[in-house]
Amino acid sequence: MILLVDMDAFFASVEQAYHPHLRGKAVIVCGDPSRRGVVTAASYEARPFGVRAGMPTAEAKRLCPDAEFVEGSPRKYVEKSLELLELFLTYTPDVEPFSVDEAFLDLGKLGARGATREAAIAMAREIQQRITDEHGLSASIGIGPNKLIAKMASGVNKPRGLTPLDEEEFRRLFWPMDVQELWGVGPKMSEHLKRMGIATVGDLGRAAESQLEQSFGLIGPHLRNAAWGRDQTPVIPYHEGVDPKSMGHEVTLPEDCREDAFLEGTLLRLSDQVARRLRGDGFVSRTLTLKLRDFRFRTITRQRALTVAVDDHLAIFEVVRSLWRANWKGEPLRLLGVSAGALEHKGEGEQGELFSTDDRKKTLQAALDQVRDKLGEASVVPAGSLMHRGTSGHVPFGAMKRKDPGSLSREARKEPGKP
Ligand SMILES: [Mg+2]
Repeated sequence: MILLVDMDAFFASVEQAYHPHLRGKAVIVCGDPSRRGVVTAASYEARPFGVRAGMPTAEAKRLCPDAEFVEGSPRKYVEKSLELLELFLTYTPDVEPFSVDEAFLDLGKLGARGATREAAIAMAREIQQRITDEHGLSASIGIGPNKLIAKMASGVNKPRGLTPLDEEEFRRLFWPMDVQELWGVGPKMSEHLKRMGIATVGDLGRAAESQLEQSFGLIGPHLRNAAWGRDQTPVIPYHEGVDPKSMGHEVTLPEDCREDAFLEGTLLRLSDQVARRLRGDGFVSRTLTLKLRDFRFRTITRQRALTVAVDDHLAIFEVVRSLWRANWKGEPLRLLGVSAGALEHKGEGEQGELFSTDDRKKTLQAALDQVRDKLGEASVVPAGSLMHRGTSGHVPFGAMKRKDPGSLSREARKEPGKP
């Protein structure tokens, strides 16, 4: 049994939980409300007016003039997200954060406590209740034999939904629906499928495998399986593969992406975060690792050992970018990660020559670090990573890793001024 816990109107609900005067009101979370921007999240009170995430703020104002417009604070959402993870971890160690407001919980290793539908429902109900009691938030939970069904079931009955589905129930429910309702089928693929005469999830389930393979290659059979509610992708616990002697950041992208500039910008941003952490804790690294997960949840990691230990973002970026170029075949990616291993205390075995010829750069780096310590992480970022400024609210950058079990909440609280 697998659960997908999906927070209801997460950003807006967090604002309501923090600010009691917003409770019960139409709340619209956006970027800077004085400027032109888009809606990041809308509370359930705002939704009947037609307000949706992604809509221009101006349009939301027209539709719902009495709404409270609140500037989003990603840091707050990430912190809350980490607190919720701690809650989930009290039920099973196998928790995969899927986005800032969604997590998969695998009950497979819990024995009788998680084996039956009834047990899973009881656990889900308790989790929902604790989310409300302890955090003042609400969640919808999907329950299924795999991630695909759990994920799709979570959306069936929002808010506060609790929906268990087996494969058969899944098909009964989803086969009549538009094919775009299937998890993983985006607007473009949906158009493509419709041109092939495949309009519903059921049509896809009944389509000939050869036809799908011809049009979509390797994804073809996967698509058809998905329509049948079959999915074997594992829940990947977020503590898995984390070397305590390494520092890493990874990010699940807002949507599967194959755009060069965006991916490169993301790698730069991750490199920058890793470098910041290295310097913050006084380490240099001799091994860099790139992690890629594609839209089929296939994960690869590639490592390179360095002759000179590094702690600056450009050196890290250059290595991970070359690893990326050598190993990425153009498939849509859903996750990128950068980590630095073989850590040494700065100065310990450090080869001086790289740094000594580089005093000005070092001084600049130190000055920038100071600015960021004072004004927050986003005050200075590498120009190439600026593509993210518009989307960072959706992206739990670097927040999902922890060095050892138990340090997580400490870490989240350590630097309250930073995202
Ligand atoms: Mg949600």
